[in-house]
Amino acid sequence: MMNFIILLGPPGSGKGTQALLLKERMGYVLLSTGDLLRDEIKRETAFGLKASEYINKGLLVPDELITGFILDYIERNKLYSENILLDGFPRRISQAEALSVSMKNSDKKVDAALLLALDRDDIMYRLSGRKMCPKCQSIYHADAGDKCEKCQTALVKRTDDNEETIIKRIDVYENETAPLIDYYKKNGLLHCVNGKGTVEEVYERIVKAVKNNG
Ligand code: AMP
Repeated sequence: MMNFIILLGPPGSGKGTQALLLKERMGYVLLSTGDLLRDEIKRETAFGLKASEYINKGLLVPDELITGFILDYIERNKLYSENILLDGFPRRISQAEALSVSMKNSDKKVDAALLLALDRDDIMYRLSGRKMCPKCQSIYHADAGDKCEKCQTALVKRTDDNEETIIKRIDVYENETAPLIDYYKKNGLLHCVNGKGTVEEVYERIVKAVKNNG
């Protein structure tokens, strides 16, 4: 089994949904930077308020703000000694390099970067109808009811899931995050998984990739 996995893929490719399944079924510890940031915003911390200025515009939070925050969080919670799944970090080559240095200092390394591939039309369709549970972070499509099936909390729409911000986020992904695909390919760590299909179909593909490389 792989110990340290980075999930890559455009917004709406299913990273969050699949990360929750991998956590529930395979025992990975999940670190979702988007969820951490949304929690900071909810608690109205100075960091959260600053980050929300970028998030609501569909832009990446600057490295000076986010990189230290995430790497400190990992070290403080001793996550390098867990089987960990990173959803949403790194999102730039500079972040990947900072992560690599931090891991080297702890004598650890990334085992795999899993890319969930999905085309632009599917991304738009998924994101424009998406709802999420603010309590357990489960993700639902437009045709779901008003409450989370797992914890009965009222579902909400993310503030950055509107058409204008979605288009911006896809552009930002292509320009700033997609270069990570080549970065991890060169290191021999990239595994590409087709993100189209049902949640269970995609999950099966991911498990195959994770288990074949243990
Ligand atoms: P997500 O829930 O992963 O889609 O993240 C939501 C938003 O949080 C992104 O659109 C970015 O604005 C911000 N964000 C999350 N992770 C990062 C990161 N590693 N670097 C910069 N911004 C980030």
